[in-house]
Amino acid sequence: MKYISTRGNAPAKTFTEILLAGLAPDGGLYLPEEYPQVTRAELDVWRNLSYAELAFAVLAKFATDIPADDLKALIDKTYTAEVYNNGRADSDFSQITPLRTLLPGVHILELSNGPTLAFKDMAMQLLGNLFEYALNKQHEELNILGATSGDTGSAAEYAMRGKRGIRVFMLSPDGKMSAFQRAQMYSLQDENIHNIAINGMFDDAQDMVKAVSNDHAFKAAHKIGTVNSINWGRVSAQIVYYFKGYFAATQSNDEQVAFSVPSGNFGNICAGHIARMMGLPIGQLILATNENDVLDEFFRTGAYRPRGTDHTYQTSSPSMDISKASNFERFIFDLVGRDGAQVREFWSRVDNAADTAAFDIKHTAYWDALPGFGISSGKSSHFDRLKTIRELWEEYGVMVDTHTADGLKVGLEQRRPGLPLICLETALPAKFEETILEALGRKPERPASMAGIENLPQRVDVMEADVATLKAFIAAHIPA
Ligand SMILES: *Cc1c(COP(=O)(O)O)cnc(C)c1O
Repeated sequence: MKYISTRGNAPAKTFTEILLAGLAPDGGLYLPEEYPQVTRAELDVWRNLSYAELAFAVLAKFATDIPADDLKALIDKTYTAEVYNNGRADSDFSQITPLRTLLPGVHILELSNGPTLAFKDMAMQLLGNLFEYALNKQHEELNILGATSGDTGSAAEYAMRGKRGIRVFMLSPDGKMSAFQRAQMYSLQDENIHNIAINGMFDDAQDMVKAVSNDHAFKAAHKIGTVNSINWGRVSAQIVYYFKGYFAATQSNDEQVAFSVPSGNFGNICAGHIARMMGLPIGQLILATNENDVLDEFFRTGAYRPRGTDHTYQTSSPSMDISKASNFERFIFDLVGRDGAQVREFWSRVDNAADTAAFDIKHTAYWDALPGFGISSGKSSHFDRLKTIRELWEEYGVMVDTHTADGLKVGLEQRRPGLPLICLETALPAKFEETILEALGRKPERPASMAGIENLPQRVDVMEADVATLKAFIAAHIPA
C-alpha cells in the first residue's frame, strides 16, 4: 500500500514513511492510493472479533510495510481493558468501545474510556506505540512540540509518556485551562514530558510553535515533530471503531446504520467516510458542528468558507471551536474524483487567505456527486446542548458531555427513519464540569482514575511568550 498526496505532486510513500511526517512536500495530505475493500466474507468473520483482533484486521490493510507480527504486538499492547479503563462507573471495559443503548435503535458508542477521558486516546495510544517502534527501528529520536488548550495535549502526553526515543514539549496558556485540565497534564512526572505554561493566550503558544517549526535549521538539528490531527496514523486507527460500532448495533451485515459525529477538524468523520468507502454498510454519516458551523455551511450550501480565529466563537463544546478543518481536504480529494489539480485550485483560494476566501461547488458536477457520499449535517447551540444533556439525564439517567450532546442533537434531527443511529461519544462529562452544572444543577461524576487529581504534585515550567527562550529550553532538555 502506497500513500499519495491530495495535491497530486508528491512521491508515493509507505505507511511507515508517512507515520512521522506531517504534510506532504506539495502541501497536501496523505491518503492511500486506493481504499482497501472489505469483502462480505471478511465482514462475516470480523463481526466476531475482539477489538484488538478487529484493529489488526483493519490496520493490516493500511500498514502493509510493518511485519504482521510486529503490528499485531503493537495493537495487542494498545487495545487492552487496562488501557481503556478509566474507572468510569457502569461500563464494559472488555469491549474497549462498548455500545450503550438509549432506546431501541439509538445508541452511544463509548470512545472515552481511555486515560484522558476523550476519544483522542483511541488513536493517540496506538500512535505512541507506533512512533516508539518506528523510531527505535531507525535508531532515531523525536521531540514532539505542540500547543494545547486542553484535549489534544493531554492525549499526546498520556500516549507518549515513558516512550523510548520520544520527548514531548507541550505549551499551554498559563492559568487559562480548568484546574482539572491543568492537573491532568501537569501531574505527569515522566522525565520525557515537559509542560510549559506560557504567559499569554493559546494563540501566543501556537505562534511560538509555528515560529520554531519555521526555523528549519533548528527543527532539523533538534528533531522536532508534531502529532496533529492530519497524522494518517491517527485517522487510520479511528476507522476501526466504526466497524466495531456497526457490528455491535446490528444483527447481520445486510443492515445499514447511521453514525453521528461531533466534528471540528473533520478527523473523526473522515475515518467514518473511509470505513464507508471500504465497504462498511454505513447508510448515513451525520456531521454535527457547534456554533462554529463552517462544515455545516459547506454541506448545506456547497461553499467552504474557513474563518480566522477572530471569527471563531468560544463555546461550551470547546474542542469543536474550529473554523478551518484540517482533514477536510481528504474528503474533497475523494469528492472531486481524486483530481489533485482541482484540490490545488480550491486550496489556492482558501490557504492563508483572508476571511472572505471560499470555494463553492454549488454549480459544479461535484455538488451532484455529494449526496453519493451519504453525509448529512447540522449544528447545535449552547441552548441545544443544555437541553439535550438535561433530556438524556431525565429520561434515561445517562449523562453526556457537551460535544456528545451536539452529536446527539443533530443525529436525532437528521437520521433517516429506519436506520439505527450510533452517536459517537467524544468525551466524558467530567471534563466539562461547569456546563454540566449549568445544565443539571449538579456536577458530573469523576471516574475513579481522576479522583483527587488536583491534589497531586505538579510539574510545569512557566515561560514568557518568547521564541528564543523556548528554543533555549528545548536545546537544554535534549541530552547531547
Ligand atoms: C477533537 C474533539 C472533537 C472533534 O474531532 P475532529 O476529529 O477534530 O472532528 C470533538 N469532541 C471532542 C471532545 C474532541 O476532543
